[in-house]
Amino acid sequence: MGKRNQGQGEDGAVTDTTIAPWYRRVVRWGQTNLTELDPIRYDDQWWRQHWRRTRIQGVIVNAGGIVAYYPSAHPLHHRAEFLGDRDLYGDIVAAAREEGLAVLARMDSNRAHERFFIEHPDWFARDMTGTPYREGDLYVSCVNSPYYDDYLPGILREIIERSHPEGVTDNSWSGLDRNHICYCANCRRRFQAATGTHLPTTKDWENTAYRQWIVWNYARRIEIWDINNRTTKQAGGPDCLWLGMNSGDIAAQCVRFRDYKAICERADIVMLDSQARSTTRGFQSNGEMGKLIHGLLGWEKLVPESMAMYGAGQPTFRVGSKPEPEARMWALEGFAGGIQPWWHHIGAYHEDRRQYRTAEPLFSWHEANEQFLFNRTPVATVGLVWSQPNTDFYGRDAAEERVSLPERGVAQALLRARIPYLPIHADHIDRDSGDLALLILPNLGSMSDEQCAAVRRFVERGGGLLATGESSLYNEWGDVRSDFALADLFSVSASGTYHGSSNAAAASWETWGKHTYLRISPELRAGVYGPQTGAEPEVTTDRHAVLVGFGETDILPFAGRLEVVRVTGAAEVPLTYVPPFPIYPPETAWMRYPTSDVPALVLNEQRSGRVAYLAADIDRCFGRDNLPDHADLLANLVRWAAHGRIPLRVEGPGLIDCHLYHQQGRLILHIVNLTSAGTWRAPIHELIPVGPLTVRLQFSDGKEGVTARSLVSSSNVDVRMEAGWAVVTVPSVMDHEVIVVS
Ligand SMILES: [Zn+2]
Repeated sequence: MGKRNQGQGEDGAVTDTTIAPWYRRVVRWGQTNLTELDPIRYDDQWWRQHWRRTRIQGVIVNAGGIVAYYPSAHPLHHRAEFLGDRDLYGDIVAAAREEGLAVLARMDSNRAHERFFIEHPDWFARDMTGTPYREGDLYVSCVNSPYYDDYLPGILREIIERSHPEGVTDNSWSGLDRNHICYCANCRRRFQAATGTHLPTTKDWENTAYRQWIVWNYARRIEIWDINNRTTKQAGGPDCLWLGMNSGDIAAQCVRFRDYKAICERADIVMLDSQARSTTRGFQSNGEMGKLIHGLLGWEKLVPESMAMYGAGQPTFRVGSKPEPEARMWALEGFAGGIQPWWHHIGAYHEDRRQYRTAEPLFSWHEANEQFLFNRTPVATVGLVWSQPNTDFYGRDAAEERVSLPERGVAQALLRARIPYLPIHADHIDRDSGDLALLILPNLGSMSDEQCAAVRRFVERGGGLLATGESSLYNEWGDVRSDFALADLFSVSASGTYHGSSNAAAASWETWGKHTYLRISPELRAGVYGPQTGAEPEVTTDRHAVLVGFGETDILPFAGRLEVVRVTGAAEVPLTYVPPFPIYPPETAWMRYPTSDVPALVLNEQRSGRVAYLAADIDRCFGRDNLPDHADLLANLVRWAAHGRIPLRVEGPGLIDCHLYHQQGRLILHIVNLTSAGTWRAPIHELIPVGPLTVRLQFSDGKEGVTARSLVSSSNVDVRMEAGWAVVTVPSVMDHEVIVVS
């Protein structure tokens, strides 16, 4: 994005109109999230130096909401305890202008102090008994009250008129979450007017009023998004955007009624508030989330992400430093997924000064290589289908088990196999599947008829399909259908029953309910169970392609839930179910029913595309249990159903996450090294190099004279063309590497 001619207008704002608007050009942000003590200790000169050191182009400055950092004319707008008559917000904005930085005014609008509640008791959320909802000593404002319709727009106008920020971003903008129903007079009246019925009295997903309440809540948040944007644009001009911050986790967005698809349809930029990894989701969730959001928003737009320099996570240390490798790997996964860095400190003064060292090398590398990090499109042939309504209406109160674990299991298996993939929204299958060889439905239970029709069209066009578990068995409200809507594609019909359990807690030595296996079907295996008689273990080599690598076993561990289905068309059943048998005492651990006719995997090629249906929830099992057999089986199924159409092959040791892009006649490959004892237990302590890696990239633009360079080790690397593939040797990868082949 390079250097630009930035001038300053009379109000001090950056006003050069020949360049792209701020939301298309500011790619590095910083945020010193002020505490109420900071008005008396904020060191302007020190922070200016830090802005310069870290090469940021924009700052996010606390303005108002719960706490005001300027002398607001609104008497109920609570001033920071140590603010006095100072305008700390205005002072920081002025400094930012002198440094040529863009400014986003930060708000936090979801709660207020007791004095506010006493003066406007009808603006606050209440439970069924009329008791106000409180968080600590603050009161939760109701999204359906004049607090959101009148008061907040007034605050936005005041901030914009005082300081002319580029825009406003709000930390916690969407009010009370799904776990609390507000029964205030405003909510009662508005819900009745919108739906003709009373507010639900309990959480009940089968209840029509409860479902209407969910939909009504989502709609109100989008309405607030639009009201706030009208306000900021009216006060500050067409580029003065209002941006609620959003989460890096779909289930969390559901709980807060934030419809990612609807938000991205109206947003010019997404301010992503996803500050740290969780041990269960891994660093890779950041790269995946970048791709998911860009899939909704468009790849030409930006997704800056608040990255905690402090000890965010479990436990949290607001004024302690996050271990540097932990912060670094989160940021690098973000870069790989098209996310822009935004450092975030809590408070303006720190005794643990190590956190000030974290951003500089990351942000400097980002600046030096930004020509390769934007204006590019992802290259992948595998689409992982998702939708937020599925998380709501199929996932309900068990979204982790029903939705997140299967999806994570597939994603992790793809990562492990170095197979590039993209999250594809179920409403965008027709639009986004043009370059895809395969769609995956990871237990995507809730699907509309139209979404199912799009999947069918994809397969009719020759696309492959891998579906698992209850995919398409429920409609968009989460009501069960009499059969899979995609039963014809799967070549099975549902029985309405299942074996085993999706719940990890069901495992126990005494109950042995999860001591189950999958049997490689007798006609597809060489021998029967029993002792090997030869000196060497028997290896079967003539099995189906989806069983590659399993030549020395006739069974696979399972321990999951299996949908009982009937095969209805011409199909192969390479795996069947072995029912549970005792674990303990060991004398009893022998198979009572070594074989069964219960299908675990059904393959068919009746249509143009290959279809694999996994009745066994191998995706959820891998997400939960991390068994290599499950990941290998998933990768085999992907390669088979995609007819081998995978544009990347990487050989070499280690757990590495590969993100591939195309940009103006060149390919850009991010390799993120997740090989560490700390990968599945935050925080990571040290980085462990892997290599050499042999990378093969399908490169239709490739010709003799192809060159490759590495953007991290900063050297040219060996590359040669082999029948349409560029073959690159990467000697070693410490934290990450980016290879550019042109
Ligand atoms: Zn209310």
